[in-house]
Amino acid sequence: MILVTGAAGFIGSSFVKMPHFKGKTLIAVDSLTYAGHLPNLFPESENPQFLLSTSAIGDYATTLKLLQEHGVNTVVNFAAESHVDNSINGPEVFVQTNVVGTFRLLEAARHYFQELSLDAKKNFRLLHVSTDEVFGELGKTGKFSETTSYDPSSPYSATKAASDHLVRAWHKTYGLPTIVTNCSNNYGPRQFPEKLIPRMILCALNEQPLPVYGRGENIRDWIHVEDHCQGIWLALTKGTPGETYCFGGNSERRNIDVVTGICQIMDELKPRANGKSYRDLITFVEDRLGHDWRYAIDDSKAQRELGFNRKFSKFEDGLKETVKWYLDNPEWIQSVLEKGSKK
Ligand code: NAD
Repeated sequence: MILVTGAAGFIGSSFVKMPHFKGKTLIAVDSLTYAGHLPNLFPESENPQFLLSTSAIGDYATTLKLLQEHGVNTVVNFAAESHVDNSINGPEVFVQTNVVGTFRLLEAARHYFQELSLDAKKNFRLLHVSTDEVFGELGKTGKFSETTSYDPSSPYSATKAASDHLVRAWHKTYGLPTIVTNCSNNYGPRQFPEKLIPRMILCALNEQPLPVYGRGENIRDWIHVEDHCQGIWLALTKGTPGETYCFGGNSERRNIDVVTGICQIMDELKPRANGKSYRDLITFVEDRLGHDWRYAIDDSKAQRELGFNRKFSKFEDGLKETVKWYLDNPEWIQSVLEKGSKK
């Protein structure tokens, strides 16, 4: 039995929709913050059965009970506060969820694990999903890999870095079979519209300015969420406890190129009534504090050791599919915005 935290969020909900879980039962733990959206779990008929717990990962007693009652052998931790801008404006909840919450999840897993039989111990895995932002920023050259030193810049990345260290320490100190994955920027369906790509699509749809930080020169590596989820699945099934695996999209793009790409796709799929290009809505705004300049990932270890490869090899194709998804799902947009505004 697998327990997935943060399953109602962007990446967690893509993970539980993977064909591997078809016809299975899984435990979804999600405290349904503004970013967690229950309908993310239920729109497709081939869904697995969900045992839903709306507990927080910091709720040690509930997590321990879930692990014991359902004989869980796999935990995947997606739950987190995940938006850098929010972490700059209000870092405390990031410390609570990403650091304290992960610590309590680890403690529940450790106490459960200690009571397992030798055979069950061999099969147990706890995979912690993390970000390339823990490595800080790159100059013009080079890429992050599993051996890059941690150097986080934002409260978000600092709390993710802390949680990664805790997860590794629980392996080294207590022998808990943990795996950490660090991934670049994800894109795809069901991403909360605070993040760059869905935010720009929504602003464009509403004929609002498209706010781009600085001059849009910052570079991110973009991976389709399905490719990331496949990487996580491979790390779970083929990875070695105690190891770290990095996943990237091999698609470095400047933010301004991502935004103009979205405009070009929308010009084609949903031309503006006034005949102008959506590009005319681009507005440069004051840069984010501590904005890392460039991220890039070398995921050759995952390719070599796990057989990782990407289905979405061309970012512009994945971006077009993503824009189409948002254009085709106005009810989803409406409902997440309504839920977000109630918080
Ligand atoms: P998200 O914000 O869309 O989803 C997070 C989910 O966690 C939400 O459903 C929320 O309700 C839930 N949650 C928050 N606090 C919780 C708590 N205390 N207990 C239980 N549930 C809680 O985030 P996402 O983009 O899907 O990211 C998932 C994970 O992947 C995060 O750990 C993030 O750091 C990591 N990550 C994200 C990206 C990216 O580009 N989005 C890249 C690399 C790594």
